[in-house]
This record gives sequence, C-alpha cells and structure tokens, in this order.
Amino acid sequence: MKTILITGAGGFIGSHLAERLKGEGNYVIGVDIKLPEYKTEVTNEFHQIDLRTDEGLEKLYTKLKHISIDEVYHLAADMGGMGYVTGRDAQMFQNSGRITLNVIQFAERKAVKGFLFTSSACRYPEDIQMEGSVKLSEDLAFPANPQDGYGWEKIMGELLCKYYKENFGLNTKVSVFHNIYGEKGIYDGGKEKAPAALCRKVAKAKNGDEIEVWGDGTQLRSFCHVDDAVEGLIRLMGTDVEGAVNIGSDEEITIKDFTQMIIDISGKDLKIKYVDGAIGVSSRNSNNTKAEKVLGFKPKVELRDGMERTYKWIDEQVNGSKFKAILVEGAEVEDENTTYHIIEQQLDHAKEREMKNRGFWLAERRDGKSIYLHHSKFKKPEDILKNNN
Ligand code: NAD
Repeated sequence: MKTILITGAGGFIGSHLAERLKGEGNYVIGVDIKLPEYKTEVTNEFHQIDLRTDEGLEKLYTKLKHISIDEVYHLAADMGGMGYVTGRDAQMFQNSGRITLNVIQFAERKAVKGFLFTSSACRYPEDIQMEGSVKLSEDLAFPANPQDGYGWEKIMGELLCKYYKENFGLNTKVSVFHNIYGEKGIYDGGKEKAPAALCRKVAKAKNGDEIEVWGDGTQLRSFCHVDDAVEGLIRLMGTDVEGAVNIGSDEEITIKDFTQMIIDISGKDLKIKYVDGAIGVSSRNSNNTKAEKVLGFKPKVELRDGMERTYKWIDEQVNGSKFKAILVEGAEVEDENTTYHIIEQQLDHAKEREMKNRGFWLAERRDGKSIYLHHSKFKKPEDILKNNN
C-alpha cells in the first residue's frame, strides 16, 4: 500500500484516478479547490485548498505534516475546452503556473518517491498541426511554439520537472494527454470539452432539431477514454522514463464523424449546423510509439463504446434517468395509471433532497407531468431501482 497525493482530485481525471488507486488499497489523499462533483468517497482524506497561494501551500504542509507521501500525481490546473481557453492566456498561465510551482516544491520538500505532472497536447507547436494528418511524437515539442498561455504553462511545468530532477534528484515524470473524455466530468457551464459539449447538445435536442458544431467538421482529433488515461498514468508512475510520454488514442476521426457517432448513439434524427467558434488546430493526433514501447500502453476502450457510456451518463444528467416502477395494487394516487417512470432525483436541489429524505420519489405520469409519490406505494422499490440501473 502506498500513500498517494492527487492534486485536482475534485476534477474529472483526478477523481477517476483517485477512485482506482483507493480501490487498489492505497491510501489516497485528495487536494483541490473544490469537492468532486460527480463522485463521492474517492479518497481516504480530502483537503479543499487553493494551491495557487502561499497560504494554501502552508495549509497543505500543516495538514500533511506527519504523513510520509510516496507519490504525487499533479493534475490541478485552471483548464477547460477551447471555448474556455481562448482569451484566458494570462489567467490560465498565472493560475496553473502558481499551482505547479507550489506543488512541485512541496513534493521535493516532502522527498516523495515519484512526482507526475500532467501536460497536454497543447504543448506541441501550433504550426505543425495546421494541415494534413499529424501524429505528434514527444520530441516534436521543441523548439517550442505551443498553443497559447495554457500550452506555455504546460511547457513551463515540463521544464520544472526536468530541473527538479537535475538539481534535486526529484523523480519526475510527464504525461501528455490527448483529449481525455468519459463519464462523470464537466458537461456544461463553459469549461466542458468537445465530447461532453456535443453529448449535452445531442441530449438536449429533440427529433428534427439542428445542433451547432464549431468549425466546418473537418478538424481531425483523437479521443481517449478516462479509464485508459488512468491506466497510462499509473503505468508511467511505475516506470523510469526520460522525458514526456503521450497518453492518448492514436485513432483519428473528423469532428463531423464524431458528432454523427453521438447522434447515432442517441437514436435521434438530428441535423448538424456548422458555425464559427473556437476550433483550435486543424489536425491533432497522438503518436503512441513511445508509450507502447516504454509503458506497454495501448488504449483498450473503443471510441464507440466509450462514447456510449459517456452519452448515457450525460443524457441522464440532462434529462434525468428514468426507472419504471409499478404501483402496489390498490395504491391511491391522483390518477388511474399504474405505471410510472421514476426520475432519479438530483440531490443538489434542496427541495428534491428534502422530498427524498421524507421517502418521496419524483415520478413522471403518462402525460409527462412530474409528481412526488411516496415509496410505500410501489412494489419493492429498491429492487425496481436496482433492476433498471
Ligand atoms: P479538471 O478541470 O476536471 O480538473 C482540474 C482540477 O484542478 C479541478 O478540479 C479544479 O478545481 C482544480 N483546480 C483548479 N484550480 C485550483 C486551485 N487553485 N487549487 C486547487 N485545485 C485547483 O480537468 P481534467 O480534465 O481532470 O484535467 C486534469 C489535468 O490534465 C489538468 O492538468 C489538465 O491540464 C490536464 N489535461 C487534461 C486533458 C483532458 O482532455 N481532460 C487534456 C490535456 C491535459
């Protein structure tokens, strides 16, 4: 059993990583400015700290004063999809830069055995990703011309890893993520990335609707499921590798085909409207030669399977997951229908939380209206929920 610190454990990849490492019997300490939104109890302890500040760093030292840490996975960053990144260069460089400067210093002082920094495909020079089909191998990052403030901060983090290794002997590793997607990540509010944003748009649309997609659909990308990303990180932490290693899928797809795949998964009849938007580079794909050689890493989750899981989860968040339940014979309710759809209650809403605590379920009548029904009116409610899940 190792003691592992994960920064950004309240975020998408960090919470998946924490869940896996804790599940394997490690003692996992999470730190983030926010709590995990879609997962609970993924860590053994969790500290809500702003890692940008001196006070935050002090707090971290104090909280973990008597704990010896084996490994640090550093994922905390100010980040989002292209819509968020665009025009926020100064802010993102400042925020993520300060976090990384603090966290790597903390790791060195705590004499951890392994420190892993999560870089991004935005580290690669923009000019080599503007036409054709490009597979990015790690050595192409220098001379550097990365994508905006976010990319420069990642280059800074990578250089810090190199210098801390050379100057202090800190055992640093660098992963380079390429479009990680999956369930239980941000899907609205502006910070979401393309796969989640497209799933949300499709989930909200009705048959015959048009959904808007940024660009002309010809952009090439590869997408890697979060389960594979987590596997890649754990393998990288356990291996001594010089320099950065790509963690991504090397199967490229156009945004047009990717969007159509999501529409097909939804089973809806939708049209795509291409509009202006922050599209980033025109072609980006991972070259996995090094990852395969040094880590034996090959993504396992097929894009279609991973997107089915992701779409299902986002559809449930957007539209509520529906469970069929049969009323107990003779139950008195306000109409005669005996079959109801139970809608999974969103427990972040105070009213729904209160009703659930009092034993009421939110149910949908045949006419589409929602009503609260007490669980005693249903046959074996828990069984029904389990069977439908
Ligand atoms: P995320 O936004 O879900 O997670 C980042 C976490 O950092 C968030 O929970 C956020 O609250 C936390 N954070 C931000 N500011 C903080 C602060 N001041 N103090 C403490 N915590 C703070 O993003 P993610 O997709 O899980 O990405 C994790 C890491 O992987 C990031 O470093 C990101 O740059 C990198 N990355 C991700 C992708 C991807 O496709 N998701 C691609 C390339 C690189």
